[in-house]
Amino acid sequence: MPLDAPQEIAPPVPRTLCTDCGISRTATPKNCAHACQFIQPDDPRLETQVHGRPRDPTRPDELHFGPFRRMLRAKLVPPKQGAQWTGIATTIAQRLLESNTVDAVLTMAPDPADKWRPTPVLVTTPEEMAQCRGMRMGYAPLLALLEPAKAKGYKRLAVIGIPCQVYALRALEKQLALDRLYVIGTPCSDNTTTDRFHDFLALLAEDPSTITYLEFRADYRVELRFTDGRIKLIPFLKLPISKLPSDFFPITCRTCVDYTNVLADITVGYMAGQGDQWLLVRNEKGEELLATLGTDLHTEPPAAAGKRTSAVKGFIANVERAAGGLPLRSMPNWLRPIMGWLMPRIGPKGLEFARARVEMKAAETVLHLRREHPRRMRHMIPAHVWALVKPYGLKPEAGEGVEGSK
Ligand SMILES: Cc1cc2nc3c(=O)[nH]c(=O)nc-3n(C[C@H](O)[C@H](O)[C@H](O)COP(=O)(O)OP(=O)(O)OC[C@H]3O[C@@H](n4cnc5c(N)ncnc54)[C@H](O)[C@@H]3O)c2cc1C
Ligand code: SF4
Ligand code: SF4
Repeated sequence: MPLDAPQEIAPPVPRTLCTDCGISRTATPKNCAHACQFIQPDDPRLETQVHGRPRDPTRPDELHFGPFRRMLRAKLVPPKQGAQWTGIATTIAQRLLESNTVDAVLTMAPDPADKWRPTPVLVTTPEEMAQCRGMRMGYAPLLALLEPAKAKGYKRLAVIGIPCQVYALRALEKQLALDRLYVIGTPCSDNTTTDRFHDFLALLAEDPSTITYLEFRADYRVELRFTDGRIKLIPFLKLPISKLPSDFFPITCRTCVDYTNVLADITVGYMAGQGDQWLLVRNEKGEELLATLGTDLHTEPPAAAGKRTSAVKGFIANVERAAGGLPLRSMPNWLRPIMGWLMPRIGPKGLEFARARVEMKAAETVLHLRREHPRRMRHMIPAHVWALVKPYGLKPEAGEGVEGSK
């Protein structure tokens, strides 16, 4: 059953730092001023609003991953066909529709003309959720569908979103006056426009149109799947990064501060999953969402191995050396295969890998903003980001302030 064609959505209001979450396309684009994580974010206030308390740096891993009740390594058995991993995100939403717990789910489907392009949809039947499985690269105005949802009288919603969408959703949650809202978040990093992503695919295969799946795995390899069933694994360090333009990743995605979707009720990712998925159940609603999966979900406690410090230090040195370009450019070609072989063996794994990635992203935020938007630093960098990068010698300089620590 094909999904309904997306509704007519107004054009966006152009802004320098914007991932087009959809708010600027609503009848009240001025809401961006207090809803946007790139304008005047207030993470501690929203963490308290959603979870009852801000992150507590004395609780293990909260400084890195935000408030949570428990973390799990998890998989659906059997995995759902067409899912990015095993389909936990879309199956939770499907169950909410099956049990009539929500009227509709806001999420992304593939654009009918381009499977890699996300297009926002308002899903009202469980069967339609299957068509939303899998990852697309790029941005699409998910939250612009809040108004059509309201017009249809939907007061109980679930939203599957990436962190910059979820930040704006939570900032506006009270004024939406919904009867019920469930937020299923995925982590997100290194997103880019769909057009740019096609340029990347073109470097990975002779016929990029045959690529059906791509994922940056926690074992330091990119997995590609093809229409003929082939699977190709490429070590990160052997990716043709040097052929990409230095602004391949927009400044928004090099500087956003929420990797793990801290304002979701449940975060569904893979980083600490060691080949499985990784769940952060953040609050009571997150427990409710997890429970919808029943015995289809197999879980284990997440583990950690290796040490992240030297990997993060090396990454920071590369970002500094690249001076705004892509960090892997400086690696000599002869070293790439050796490092590509070594990293899955000696690099940080499980939770330690996730901590490393969060610290790397925090350092990128500081270095890229300092270079490209220094005056935004005191608005955009919350205190926890400074705490994450402090062990690596990065601290606020004069005028960079720590406005986010309020
Ligand atoms: C751009 C991007 C980068 C990501 N980076 C990481 C990462 O670094 N580490 C990590 O642990 N996880 C990351 N994820 C999440 C990861 O890819 C999986 O989506 C997640 O683990 C859930 O898997 P699943 O099988 O449960 O999802 P599925 O059940 O297959 O559902 C995937 C859901 O994601 C939605 N979606 C797909 N593309 C987009 C998009 N472009 N924008 C918004 N929503 C979308 C779909 O509509 C669907 O609802 C990223 C996701 C995206 C979109
Ligand atoms: S709130 Fe959304 S639409 Fe508005 S500026 Fe921010 S990302 Fe762009
Ligand atoms: S990397 Fe950050 S800014 Fe970019 S799409 Fe993902 S959450 Fe949004």
